[in-house]
Amino acid sequence: MNRHLKELIELSKLDKSIDEFNPLIEMAEKKLNRRVVKRDNISKKVAKINSIIEDTKSKIDSLENQIKSINEQLTLNLAKEKVIRNEKELQALQMERELANEKLNFVNEEIDKLNRLLEIKEQEMVEANKELEKAEIDLAKVSDEVSKKLASIHEDKAKLYAKRDSKIRNIDQKILSFYEKIRIWAKNTTVVPVKKQACYGCYMRLNDSAYAEVIKSEEICTCHHCGRIIYIEPQTVEAEG
Ligand SMILES: [Zn+2]
Repeated sequence: MNRHLKELIELSKLDKSIDEFNPLIEMAEKKLNRRVVKRDNISKKVAKINSIIEDTKSKIDSLENQIKSINEQLTLNLAKEKVIRNEKELQALQMERELANEKLNFVNEEIDKLNRLLEIKEQEMVEANKELEKAEIDLAKVSDEVSKKLASIHEDKAKLYAKRDSKIRNIDQKILSFYEKIRIWAKNTTVVPVKKQACYGCYMRLNDSAYAEVIKSEEICTCHHCGRIIYIEPQTVEAEG
């Protein structure tokens, strides 16, 4: 086999191995990202519950202020009662007191309702905080795992790159740039075997003379249909397929 062709086959296998790390990296990053999204969603939930709690508390405060002023009114009403001059004034004061008491009942009911809501929301907050804590722990764990995994991937990748660097130093520059140009579009199918007289890049059949050329493998051959570099796999490998 042509020496350059042999080098290109090895280089293409190396490039393929380097690229095979990409889905692993992507998978690890996705795994981590899912945890981040989960944690962020729980954080948002906590913030929402918190804002409802704050809002409810401030409503209760304002209702309690109303109670205070109604009570002041009632005290005033009692004081006035001591100095009434006639039945009409007494009736007016009684009417005022009834209205104030009605209002007081209404406001107290509202406060009760809000307190019940507050209790529910505070319970939800406890649960959400537990969930958040769990998600944070899970995220930290996965983040640790993923960074270890990525470090090991990068280490393996660096080893392959080093191997690649030493390999391309021995390859003729013209041949290397020919390979790189095809690789731009053909990616990991830049150098493909021919099986059953067909190019394994485009799966088109080679004509007899092209096929004979590939078998000879004196030159670097390209597929006439797609332009990929083609070669006949050594017998031992072809026998497996
Ligand atoms: Zn082809």
